[in-house]
Amino acid sequence: MPTPLMTYLNTILRPGALDELESVLGDDLSPSILAVIDKTAYVHSGACARIEGLLALRRTHVFTDFEPNPKIEDVLRGIMVYKSCAPQIILAIGGGTAIDTAKLISCLAHTDAPINVVQGRDVTPSRQARLIAIPTTAGTGSEATQFAVVYIDGQKYSLDHSTLLPDVAIIDPSLMQSLPPAVTAATGLDALCQAIESIWAVNANDESIEYADQAIELAYGSLAEATRHPTLETRGAMCRASHLAGQAINITRTTACHALSYAITSTHGIPHGIAVAMTLIPVLRFNVAVCDDDCTDPRGAEAVRSRIARLLKSLGALTVDDACDKLQRLLQDIGCPVCLSHAGITSPSAVSEIVQSVNVQRMLNNPRVTTPSILSEILRWTPAIPDSSPDDPEHQHASSLPHHVSHL
Ligand SMILES: [Zn+2]
Repeated sequence: MPTPLMTYLNTILRPGALDELESVLGDDLSPSILAVIDKTAYVHSGACARIEGLLALRRTHVFTDFEPNPKIEDVLRGIMVYKSCAPQIILAIGGGTAIDTAKLISCLAHTDAPINVVQGRDVTPSRQARLIAIPTTAGTGSEATQFAVVYIDGQKYSLDHSTLLPDVAIIDPSLMQSLPPAVTAATGLDALCQAIESIWAVNANDESIEYADQAIELAYGSLAEATRHPTLETRGAMCRASHLAGQAINITRTTACHALSYAITSTHGIPHGIAVAMTLIPVLRFNVAVCDDDCTDPRGAEAVRSRIARLLKSLGALTVDDACDKLQRLLQDIGCPVCLSHAGITSPSAVSEIVQSVNVQRMLNNPRVTTPSILSEILRWTPAIPDSSPDDPEHQHASSLPHHVSHL
């Protein structure tokens, strides 16, 4: 009999949390385990040294044959492995890609037509194995969400169903101690942007706003330190921010910044968190000017503006200008481009390609109506305050950031 699925996410978040894996797996060594592992992250995070003995005692099968940003071919290969070992437990260890891949394998293995399910043409997904997520980055919050991204023929799909929510999340900040600054910055920006977008999202409710508020305060307060001079404390704060932001977008979904980001990542190779952050400031300026005539939130423009006022408070800002300056300084502090032109994306054709790629459905969750010309303006925005380019080697530019940090 498969283990019954839990109806809520059981989260263990603290330094040393990985030591709980043994009790989460239980004393019975007989259940078959499929471990979906990002090999590099597994070794570099120290997770391998801490749990390989534990897994060796159990009937563990390992799947590592996947690339950054989940592709359907990788998922289908994973499903073959799943079918060969019929696991009762799926263990996902890595960043957003590993966790999304594990979600997809576990929820598509029991259908004859996985591609149809992803494309919404067939039955809903189902899952029989228990899913345990162990993130090695703090950013995507994938361990707290019921969706997963997968690319089919270069096109991005997001499978969204309650069976994709992991049963257990084991979040151990000590696994992130060895993350390089560039990865910490890019993934942390994803958490910050997800939380900010969740605040103004049309689907925001009291619960999501509570999660997002806390996530913004934590991420804004800790990201620069976690990037430049990480301690276990700042890593822990970013883990909490990322997880809370995941819980927030699990309720609301994301908005314009995410909708615009996918082509920036897939066409220009900009890591996901940075691609999202590059439009954060102009989208904030755009959304705060919402009025009842162009508001997509049925609660009206005033409700959106009052949520944005909460966002300013979480950033410790008195005005929108102040908030934009703070966000710009943070991006510069951690060595990330503030806008597309800082990342070298300037040609009109590149901008129009990004605009054309936008998923209209996702844009409906933005609180203010957008048009292609508004989106072009957002993409062409450059800050009034000049970008600093310090000689400090810790200020790495996005172009030098590893592509694999993107989760999408
Ligand atoms: Zn994201």
